[in-house]
Amino acid sequence: MEDCKINLNKKILTFNKLSDRNIINAFTLRPFDFSNKRDDSSNIDDEYKALKDTLGIPTKRIIKPVQKHTGNIEIVDETNINNRFDNTDGLITNLKNVALATSLADCQGILIYDPNKRIIGNVHSGWRGTVKRIAINAIHLMEERFDSSLADIEIYICPSILRCCFEVDKDVEILFKNEFKDLNIDQFIEHKNKKYYIDTVGINKAVLTKEGIKRENIITSNICTKCNSDKIHSYRADGKNAGRNLSLIMLNET
Ligand SMILES: [Zn+2]
Repeated sequence: MEDCKINLNKKILTFNKLSDRNIINAFTLRPFDFSNKRDDSSNIDDEYKALKDTLGIPTKRIIKPVQKHTGNIEIVDETNINNRFDNTDGLITNLKNVALATSLADCQGILIYDPNKRIIGNVHSGWRGTVKRIAINAIHLMEERFDSSLADIEIYICPSILRCCFEVDKDVEILFKNEFKDLNIDQFIEHKNKKYYIDTVGINKAVLTKEGIKRENIITSNICTKCNSDKIHSYRADGKNAGRNLSLIMLNET
């Protein structure tokens, strides 16, 4: 059975296991564009409104941090909900009817759910965030602040650039080799025609399972953004004016 479903009418991808339990979740497809430089006259609020209509989100609150490829995670609560969350690449909350979002173009959007403690998270893990092990920072914060058990935590990795298309030069390959000495890193790097192809999704899965997340609780879409750039924004395909996809997760009131 497929782990995720693409709804071409609504222009979103959703994860079945989350939807089945009434957790609102989405990874948006074209023509949704959550970048700040759309070529049409719409603005980002129009995009949010269209998405809320699509998902039927009964709230004004979509919280998106000001992402800077950091390893920083913040907890959203009633006291800080109107903050900007600058320099932040992941959010966690136990609040209902508050959607956590990140914008993405090739980077991994990692949705997190603890069904036992009813905690959600949304992490932006580009290759820099992956090297900083931002997903590990998120699950540790869930343990510390909400008493989550790693055995309960579920991870959902949205479409992102996969090994087929994530081509880097030697300098980036060296960064990965230095950081992930604790993994059998060579299995995630392919060397071809003087270039390196890195499986950053495989690396995140490996560090998460090593930390204590159950293998069966890590679900990936297995969709490459660059290979599917007709439907999904991709930085590697579209360059510096690339649009942005949005990933989103929300606990319903019920
Ligand atoms: Zn690809």
